Order: sequence, then structure tokens, then C-alpha cells
Amino acid sequence: MSQDECIFCKMVADSIPTAKVYEDDVVLAFLDIGPLSDGHTLLIPKQHYTRIGDCPEDVLAAFCARLGKVARAVVAAVGAEGYNILGNNGRSAGQLVEHVHFHIIPRRTGDGIFTNWPAYRYPQGRIEALAAKIRENL
Ligand code: 5GP
Ligand code: ZN
Repeated sequence: MSQDECIFCKMVADSIPTAKVYEDDVVLAFLDIGPLSDGHTLLIPKQHYTRIGDCPEDVLAAFCARLGKVARAVVAAVGAEGYNILGNNGRSAGQLVEHVHFHIIPRRTGDGIFTNWPAYRYPQGRIEALAAKIRENL
């Protein structure tokens, strides 16, 4: 996806209507048009990067630094009990808009969101081997 076609870049440029909740020189936060709960908000860096891992560290640091402030305001506005911060990176992970973003999803006990969390246990030795392999790739 080129920057010219990116729906989130169009929001940054104010060329399409957006329910903005926060904006500064680095980030924009706005309400998701397809919410999982009332107040479901997206936080994006104004610069176009596809994935978290593509962002330069200074952009990522500033982007992440805004999360707490926006999440607190969202939760207070809708009276939520908690929230999920979700980042889909890549098509396989459910990323549809290829401009990096975090979802801030207000939660209430028993709301039925994310009921399937398919956790499992590693077989013997696998956890140490995987940790070593990840360290090698840093
Ligand atoms: P992803 O699956 O890429 O993590 O999530 C993209 C999110 O962007 C979806 O939750 C979707 O509802 C939201 N979205 C897509 N197009 C628009 C739009 O034009 N306006 C707004 N406000 N949200 C959008
Ligand atoms: Zn973009």
C-alpha cells in the first residue's frame, strides 16, 4: 500500500472526516468506525510505517509514550473497567490497514470480546531453544 492510498495518512492530512480524540506533532488518535466496544480508539504515528518493527526508535518511543494518556481518557469517557492494547502487524495477524496502529479497546467483565485465547504449553527444551534463537536475531 502506498502512502497516497493509505486511509490513515488521509486522516492525518485531514482529507477525510475523522472522529479525532487526540492529536499532537507525532500522533493522532481517533475512534474506530468498526468498534468492538464503545470508545474503541486507534492510535497512529503521523508518519507512515507499516509495522511496529519498521518504526525508528524515536518515533516508536514517542508513539508508545502517548498510549497511557489516551487510554486513560477513553476509559474515563466510557466508564470501562479495563482495556486491551492490541497491535496487529501483518496480514496473518489480522492487519488490514498497513499503517502501524494500536487499538485501545475498552473492556467490561463478561463482555465476550476475545473469549478464544488458544494458549498451550511448550514441549521440554523448546522454550530455552526459542529464547536463544530470538536473542541471536536481536
Ligand atoms: P487492523 O485490522 O488493520 O488492525 O485494524 C484496522 C482498523 O481500522 C479496523 O478496526 C477498522 O474498523 C478501522 N478502519 C478502517 N477504515 C477506517 C476508516 O475509514 N475510519 C476509521 N475511523 N476507522 C477505520
Ligand atoms: Zn499511512
